[in-house]
Amino acid sequence: MAAPTQPVFRFAPSPNGYLHLGHARSALLNHELARESGGRLLLRIEDIDPLRSKPAFAAAIEEDLAWLGLQWETPVRVQSRHMADYAAALARLNARALLYPCICTRGEILRAADARKNWPRDPDGAPHYSGACRRLAPDERARRIAAGEPYALRLDLVKARAGAPALDWMENDGGGTAGAVSADPALWGDVVLARKDAPASYHLAVVVDDALQGVTHVVRGQDLYAATHLHRLLQHLLGLAAPQYRHHPLILDEAGAKLAKSRLSKPLRQLRAEGASPDDIRRLAAL
Ligand code: GLU
Repeated sequence: MAAPTQPVFRFAPSPNGYLHLGHARSALLNHELARESGGRLLLRIEDIDPLRSKPAFAAAIEEDLAWLGLQWETPVRVQSRHMADYAAALARLNARALLYPCICTRGEILRAADARKNWPRDPDGAPHYSGACRRLAPDERARRIAAGEPYALRLDLVKARAGAPALDWMENDGGGTAGAVSADPALWGDVVLARKDAPASYHLAVVVDDALQGVTHVVRGQDLYAATHLHRLLQHLLGLAAPQYRHHPLILDEAGAKLAKSRLSKPLRQLRAEGASPDDIRRLAAL
């Protein structure tokens, strides 16, 4: 009989700033669940955004987590060092003609959406892409790319879904109940999988890495719940195993606003400088 697989959890912050209580909640929950289940805990630094990621924030993240008393496996996977893995995934999608280059600027995309009534928006609030570059004549597209116009790579959602069966993922509510959620990737439209300024997008890299690292349980904030509709499709297209998911409630301020946007969102290191102990943070971040 095969040995039961050991659960693998991960905490995957983006080093765009210092950790705050919301991050502490995710990190501590992953740590606790890994410990309770005899599982492993991985840390992944999601630094593919070249403008916002800073090595100093990555170092501060590790320092804050160690101060909180967390242990994780090394080496830590740092996404910017693994661009070849994302390029390989893109090449597989491209070989099936599921990607197309998009030259449109942000301004063009927003203007096209504004010009239409009730244009759909993705769960992050961005307008769906109109598909203009999907319909561009091949020679025109080739000419503009050869002339050096920067381009992103988008998923052709209609084609991508055409051969896909109905997909779902297992969502654990944290109260001991798990249920299948049916994935609706159409919520996202033709998403960008490789950015103009970075050869991969968050959605692509997260799915590739969770599979490459053998992650069995993705535990992250509720703000990423809707992204799972798309992640499930990408897993299917790339032939990757789907982990189980648990999207935990965000920490809200008294007015019910997301903590990240409120004045209460002090970085952990500031709370620490003001005298908070790791136990205080555990209490504040507890579910
Ligand atoms: N890097 C993402 C963030 O910091 C989290 C990704 C994930 O947990 O899937 O928001």
